[in-house]
Amino acid sequence: MAKELKPDVILLDVDMPEMDGFELIARLKEDPETQEIAVIFVSAANEPGNRVRGLDLGAVDFIAKPFDIVELKARLRSALRVQHLIRILAQKAHIDGLSGLWNRTYFDQRLNAEFSESIRYNKPLTLVLADLDGFKSTNDRFGHLFGDFVIERFANILNSGRVSDIACRYGGEEFAIILPQTTMAESIDVIERYRNQFANTTWSDHPGLVVTASFGVCDIESMELPPLPKTLFMSADQAMYRAKQGGRNRVERFFTKVNTK
Ligand code: GH3
Ligand code: MG
Ligand code: MG
Repeated sequence: MAKELKPDVILLDVDMPEMDGFELIARLKEDPETQEIAVIFVSAANEPGNRVRGLDLGAVDFIAKPFDIVELKARLRSALRVQHLIRILAQKAHIDGLSGLWNRTYFDQRLNAEFSESIRYNKPLTLVLADLDGFKSTNDRFGHLFGDFVIERFANILNSGRVSDIACRYGGEEFAIILPQTTMAESIDVIERYRNQFANTTWSDHPGLVVTASFGVCDIESMELPPLPKTLFMSADQAMYRAKQGGRNRVERFFTKVNTK
């Protein structure tokens, strides 16, 4: 139920049939999907040894039975406040400061997770890599601050898609978008739109300036083998390389030279 409901807080007794509270909290804490749920022990088994054990296993509080309902509610509110702050902190650690997109650490985690999910349930998954064109010269000509502004604008475009799309700043002027439940063919229109929108962006400080980006696209269906997240990445990167070689400001999809299927 914890996995399914993803509650903020669980009130947990120590003495229970089948599995006791200590074993339950240990299981909750070892599963990434449930480890952030706050657990408060509410138990008559409140001798110091049990309290210490419960707290050491990761409970946020230990309340003795019989309890005072007003105090229980106050402790619940306190646990919820802490929980809320922990979530914000955890999220902040995964967000890139300049662009507001997900950062590289989060990208690596999510690509692994989405990849496994896609293989397990046989669902499509597309990875898009994007790299600003001739960005070194944009910086050289107009300054680093303007370069940063360009990165922000590009990030806004990449972030304007479906909520389920995961737009990330992979490195300096390099970006990645993970598109769950989307095939390469389905993603091309969206990416073409992003490319077009960026190339047509007007820059009030530098009228007439055109900045562009190149994109490489690959999905699980068409990727190089073995079926691993890093091979998907390499396949999308090869497509990107072709986009650069082909003259930049374009979207290229990955294909293998010899079709073995
Ligand atoms: P290409 O079309 O082949 O991608 O050429 P490029 O000039 O974009 O490629 P290169 O990798 O040589 O240069 C990337 C430049 O991006 C160099 C670096 O100064 C700039 N850059 C990387 N991160 C940032 C950043 O956070 N802010 C700014 N303003 N510039 C950055
Ligand atoms: Mg680059
Ligand atoms: Mg570049």
